[in-house]
Amino acid sequence: MIKREFMIIAGPCVFETEKELEEIVVKLKELGVEYIRAGVFKMRTSPDSFQGLREEGMEIIKRIRQKYGVKFVVELTTIEQIQKYSEYIDVVQIGARNMYNYELLKAAGKIRKPILLKRSFSATYNEFINAAKYIEKEGNKQIILCERGIVGFEPETRNTLDIQAVPYLKTHTKYKIFIDPSHSSGCRYMVDTLSRAAIAAGADGLIIETHTTPEKSRCDASQTISVEELKRILEYKEKYFEYFE
Ligand code: PEP
Ligand code: MN
Repeated sequence: MIKREFMIIAGPCVFETEKELEEIVVKLKELGVEYIRAGVFKMRTSPDSFQGLREEGMEIIKRIRQKYGVKFVVELTTIEQIQKYSEYIDVVQIGARNMYNYELLKAAGKIRKPILLKRSFSATYNEFINAAKYIEKEGNKQIILCERGIVGFEPETRNTLDIQAVPYLKTHTKYKIFIDPSHSSGCRYMVDTLSRAAIAAGADGLIIETHTTPEKSRCDASQTISVEELKRILEYKEKYFEYFE
């Protein structure tokens, strides 16, 4: 039987220096991770929070991508950024805060790179699927839907992972379905469990905030896992596929 194709995207929420990103990329590459996430244009709740390295960050990504031959998944937040920077990267991420930004979705539909579209915090499946259709209608069919936790009533966790999104979206759409266990829970200790749940539920991939020194991460440190913790998730995935698929 053919094993499910499964993609792991790992890397920092955000990076502050070229050296920091390079160290992370080296370690992740050693683990066999091919797709690196890295925040450059951050959509922070407070305007006083670090907003990412922005233009300078994209130049850093361009250099590291060339030097190490890894692929980059980066959130772009404006039409201009999509036009200018999609050539620098391999997958364009549209963040949860922009799922309803229809002009941005149309711009993503005009390029020929895969789009990782994150579900908004309180979007219904129907709204999520319609957002994807805005991209597809412009001619871009390479769409990945990413469930990243929805608003719940529990203050102890950042969001609540809607694991049901996997079977629902797999049944009702033809898109790839990914899970983000980092923003779902906001808790480092839950990332392993939620990743296993995603694998068992039939997801096509995971996007996981990972850092060589998670506690020093400038953003989302509490949900960022270490490279060693990521290694255990990769090992679990291999075992799961060996026994169950
Ligand atoms: C992210 O993945 O960096 C991010 C900000 O996620 P979301 O858009 O899901 O909040
Ligand atoms: Mn983050």
